[in-house]
Amino acid sequence: MKLIVIGGVAAGMSAASKLKRVNPEAEITVYEKGDYVSYGACGLPYYVSGENNDHTKMIARTKEEFRDRGIDVRTRHEVVKVAPERKQVMIRNYESGQLFIDHYDKLMIATGTMPIVPPFDGLELGNIHVLKTMEDGILLKEKINKPHINNVVIVGGGYIGIELAEAMHTLGKNVRIIEQADRILTPFDPEITEIATKHLQEKQVALHLNESVKGFSGDKYVQKVMTDKSSYDADLVIVSIGVKPATQFLQGTDIQLAGNGAIVIDREMRTTVEDIYAAGDCAEVYHYVKQENAYLPLGTNANKCGRIAGENIAGSHQKYIGTLGSAAVKIIDLELARTGLSEQEAKDLAIDYTTEFVKAANHPGYYPGQKPLWIKIICEKRTKRILGAQAIGESGAVLRIDMFAIAIQNNMPADELGMTDLCYAPPFAGVWDAVHIASNAVK
Ligand code: FAD
Repeated sequence: MKLIVIGGVAAGMSAASKLKRVNPEAEITVYEKGDYVSYGACGLPYYVSGENNDHTKMIARTKEEFRDRGIDVRTRHEVVKVAPERKQVMIRNYESGQLFIDHYDKLMIATGTMPIVPPFDGLELGNIHVLKTMEDGILLKEKINKPHINNVVIVGGGYIGIELAEAMHTLGKNVRIIEQADRILTPFDPEITEIATKHLQEKQVALHLNESVKGFSGDKYVQKVMTDKSSYDADLVIVSIGVKPATQFLQGTDIQLAGNGAIVIDREMRTTVEDIYAAGDCAEVYHYVKQENAYLPLGTNANKCGRIAGENIAGSHQKYIGTLGSAAVKIIDLELARTGLSEQEAKDLAIDYTTEFVKAANHPGYYPGQKPLWIKIICEKRTKRILGAQAIGESGAVLRIDMFAIAIQNNMPADELGMTDLCYAPPFAGVWDAVHIASNAVK
């Protein structure tokens, strides 16, 4: 059995590794257009910030290590076409420039995303970056450490924009975020993002909401960012307004794509064409609470779904339990985390829901280092079944949200979580933990 994998980072290498473990006889070739495979892109902001100065630490396994395990990894090879009727792919070798054909029995598509960069005026100027790949991270780190780079403008206040704002703050830069929506981090509800916004402002990060970037100007290198409201000095710009699935090379095949270009898959990672599987950021993912596919490009889903794809390519029929869109982000001194549905999502799904927003603390006041912790909980009104939760605070927010994720995935009502026997000792939590307090607040 021969498997071809397109894309060699989280989903692709998870699938390849799992198949090799289950079926050591399988012949596996991975085509990756970049220079690196199997790395944690999630570590890039902390590499750029200097909290980690060794990019090789983000690599889980090198291509030589994969080759030693019998997985043939070809970097700098881009798959440009798929012909499912002949079970062929066409590949361009970047070194030689040559195109060639390879055949598969099973195909795994794990091509991830491309950053969205609108055709802004002045985009050709130097020092305008994106952060998506290891190569982007290495280049950005090199540029950001040049002594004359002080004013950094970040276009977009999503997860990556905010992590980069933190990285630039750590490096002592003047940071400005321009966001066209009325708030940052829209997967969170306004109660949470208001606290985050205040924190950024207190830390001297300039934040412009309801403002759209129109273009850039400068002499060879960017010097100004123009918006619909004003213009700002910039020595370096990072565009982080979102991503789109890297699936253009599939146009014209029978592989069904959603409106945004994401590959439509079932819970077994099968596409609409036999023997072709897909997972990770290039594909949709089944949502546990919504009970339908969603688009949530997160490393959490890519790793798990890639692994399930590998198992199913070997002949199994594992189904993904479903994503909750669990995600966390650090903003200077604050932790933010969310899982399940936001209030907006519950509204959009016409669910009869109720919410509570509580201010508690990470541990009792008589133990040093008490910090406030805000939790928002979203429940089905009639049953009190927990549908979603979000938290923000200086300490303990993320691990609290992990508890909610388990509760949601076990269809727990809030009053049951409110009486769960959680650990208690003053350095860690109160006898009524913040999770209990939020859950028991639900009426
Ligand atoms: P990718 O990692 O995008 O890999 C796809 C690979 O396919 C790429 O290397 C690409 O070069 C290759 N490729 C594309 N087209 C072709 C082709 N035609 N031929 C050959 N190769 C091709 N997620 C979290 O859950 N938590 C986080 O904290 C987090 N932080 C992040 C921070 C940053 C800065 C970034 C960029 C992402 C972050 N993510 C995070 C998202 C996470 O990295 C992705 O969800 C994950 O990498 C997706 O894995 P993937 O394998 O689907 O796609």
